Amino acid sequence: MMTCEQFIDHLLDFDEGDLPSETDRLCREHSALCKQCADYLDSYQKTVAVGKAAFKSDSHGSEPAADTVDNQRPSAMESYELPEELVQSILTAAGAVR
Ligand SMILES: [Zn+2]
Repeated sequence: MMTCEQFIDHLLDFDEGDLPSETDRLCREHSALCKQCADYLDSYQKTVAVGKAAFKSDSHGSEPAADTVDNQRPSAMESYELPEELVQSILTAAGAVR
């Protein structure tokens, strides 16, 4: 029977399904018989899943963050640099309001 050390050594390949069938069989046998390694495999798979999800939400989350910065700048500029008075005088100067 495979030892826990050997199982952990093969864990990554086992999870990817990259092991030779005999080694794969021994890993399945070990994880079926050894709760510790079954738990380890389970937490490893969850970590991989969480890692993938975190990566996805990272690349997804950076876009709205950039949008927020872009959206804040013009509105801040509008309220600060374009008061109603100035807008009116610009429109008047442009001949839009007479
Ligand atoms: Zn074990």
